[in-house]
Amino acid sequence: MSRYIATRAIRGANGLVAEAEAMVSSAILDQGPDTPVAFPNTAYYLPVALGMTGIEVETLGQLSDVVAHARRLLHPVPADHQWTPYLGETLDSGMATLLAAETIEAIRYIDGRQPEVMPGFDLAGGSAFTSPDTDAVAEESPNGHLNGAIDDIQLRSWGIQLVDGRMPGFAAIVGCAKSNEVAVQIVRELQRRNILCFLSGNVNGRSIIHQLIEEGVELGYDTYTVPFGTDTISAIYALGFATRSALTFGGLKGGQGREILLYNKDRVFAFVLALGEVDDLKYAAAAGAINFGFPVIADTVIPQILPTGVTTYEHVVSMPFNEIDGVDDLERAERLVQKCIEVRGVKVHIADVPVPVPYGSAFEGEVVRKADMRVEFGGKQSRAFEYLRMAELDKVTDGKIEVVGPDFSEIEPEGHMDLGIVVDVAGRQMEKDFEPVLERQIHYFVNGASGIQHIGQRDIAWIRLSTKATDAGFRLEGFGKILHARFHADFGAIVDKVQVTLVTDPPMLTELLNEARVAYDFRNKRLEDLTDTAVDVFYSCTLCQSFAPNHVCIVSPERLGLCGAYNWLDCKASFNINPTGPNQPIKLGRSVDSIKGYWEGTNEYAKIGSHGVVDEVAMYSIMENPMTACGCFECIVMLIPEANGVMVVSREDTSMTPAGMTFSTLAGLAGGGIQTPGVMGVGKFYLASPKFISADGGFKRVVWMSSFLKDSMSDELKVVADLAGDPALIDRIADERLVTTVEELLPWLEEHEHPALTMEAIL
Ligand code: SF4
Ligand code: ZN
Repeated sequence: MSRYIATRAIRGANGLVAEAEAMVSSAILDQGPDTPVAFPNTAYYLPVALGMTGIEVETLGQLSDVVAHARRLLHPVPADHQWTPYLGETLDSGMATLLAAETIEAIRYIDGRQPEVMPGFDLAGGSAFTSPDTDAVAEESPNGHLNGAIDDIQLRSWGIQLVDGRMPGFAAIVGCAKSNEVAVQIVRELQRRNILCFLSGNVNGRSIIHQLIEEGVELGYDTYTVPFGTDTISAIYALGFATRSALTFGGLKGGQGREILLYNKDRVFAFVLALGEVDDLKYAAAAGAINFGFPVIADTVIPQILPTGVTTYEHVVSMPFNEIDGVDDLERAERLVQKCIEVRGVKVHIADVPVPVPYGSAFEGEVVRKADMRVEFGGKQSRAFEYLRMAELDKVTDGKIEVVGPDFSEIEPEGHMDLGIVVDVAGRQMEKDFEPVLERQIHYFVNGASGIQHIGQRDIAWIRLSTKATDAGFRLEGFGKILHARFHADFGAIVDKVQVTLVTDPPMLTELLNEARVAYDFRNKRLEDLTDTAVDVFYSCTLCQSFAPNHVCIVSPERLGLCGAYNWLDCKASFNINPTGPNQPIKLGRSVDSIKGYWEGTNEYAKIGSHGVVDEVAMYSIMENPMTACGCFECIVMLIPEANGVMVVSREDTSMTPAGMTFSTLAGLAGGGIQTPGVMGVGKFYLASPKFISADGGFKRVVWMSSFLKDSMSDELKVVADLAGDPALIDRIADERLVTTVEELLPWLEEHEHPALTMEAIL
């Protein structure tokens, strides 16, 4: 252990705790101890304080308890003549620093000094609902501020990617890179590996955030590159995110500090990258991160700390930028990123996709605005479709990519043309049932290319190519190269050969489109026929166990996984791809109760899969042994006893519900892998299933639902209403625009003659 680091971290911690104390006292004097304190859209109060001390901070007065706790963790700065190991003292000081930093940011939220103002800056994606009509987005005025704290909605929507390994971890980048060029390269290298980048801090007033904005790098949730703030203490939001991962997905509770830290060390692959000079405060904050098992890599000369077990490998690694081997700074930046990954032991797998633009999931959310567009396929003025079909092995030439018809070179800038993407796949393990599963991947695969935007599927696909991408040399064949590479990389176990045809020739396009439509109809029919009674196996999904160790989803044809990403066919395909993977067939065996949805097979599995936490699972009830949830549910269904029904809140809805809680708060009740009768996390398409809480009366029990669901699922809900024999059923259901309290709800339901009021008592 380095005495130098201990001295500086302890000094930094003492300074910051004193500052936090002063701020708390003066804020209490000015505004009173009862002034509310909160980060936006979170059920976890101030997450580090909650996790480490168990204090649920809601008012300024409670911040005194948090700083008092921080004060108790402080140690005197080591005297010159004395030598002790210091590690414990340094770690304690780090934790004190985190508590103080969170306190300061919380006060700044009251003052409106968080999120930090950055005039003219536009957050990519932001927290607002992004309309698929991307031209509308372009007209919105810039937000003009940095991100500040990450909200629970975003944490949960990243959850599934963190869990299934698509997103291997996060990098907390603090400071300022050697040059703008290096800053961009570091972020690109991380994005390429789908590692989330959290940005904060500065060196002499200049931050990597300034560098990236100057270079036109899109920052925000959508690009996995989140600018917290230009000072060091905003890095606290990264540790708040880490703490909440443990609370959300790990089922841990506030106050279980040690467990939360171990959870992060074992499951959250994060590290700190300190760019530029490291001052006392940065040493102190770094010591805080080390508590979580997150190592610190600095691009300057600082003392190193070798392994002691707190992190997996080294704790602090110094890699002076100018001494890194490399022909130029870009190569040095790449090596620096590689070093970080190695020190943290981050597991990264990337498919090598041979296209002339950057490629990786970080580009999936990228938007191509009309003004930046070279050409579009589909949308309002042209048609694009995609069709994946299974073929005989000897009918497919692997890697063959053919363009039939003219390229877009003759199309005017910002113009449009028709396009058909036909993918022929063959493989010994391939099944007709996997066609739609694979076809749906086209959206993700194509979107991974920087400068390409893909929306929709089937014959309503809409693809935009940016001028930047076409200037870099991207042509129609590029789609084929992406699809060939990704289908092999991700589905190699069922796909042996992939051939792609890009069709623009009108007669051939029409012919193939007709063939595709016949196939779409056939698949729709197949899905309708695919009911729970038509099969004798369901599938388990334990993908989320890397985060929520005791949760398992049981996926049936009529009940998809609660994240919305895995239906029965997906699970079946996944089992074929990886027979020892997270999706295992569950043989149903004897039916125990066909109404509530118990089988010998599912009960047996629930016990094993949950490691004994759950005894039985009722597939069709929220009231008795409901399925557990991890944290990635799309919606929460919750009993409203007064209304004899349930409400359904969607992840997108941040407003107050009649249960007196917002989605974020409810999510705390629903998650963590435990059964809570009356509360259940579900995938939104389960709402449209005939098996939706069918043991409790089915969809007619829904008395309130987020308007987002009414709007985004209007077609599906119309079918549900017709099936229920009441075409006006959806209009009898309240939403947050109409009703936000249970007192308002009852008269509203009576006025609209909601069927739940006359149904048998649910309790
Ligand atoms: Fe997680 Fe369930 Fe989705 Fe599987 S189906 S990824 S366990 S939420
Ligand atoms: Zn999950």
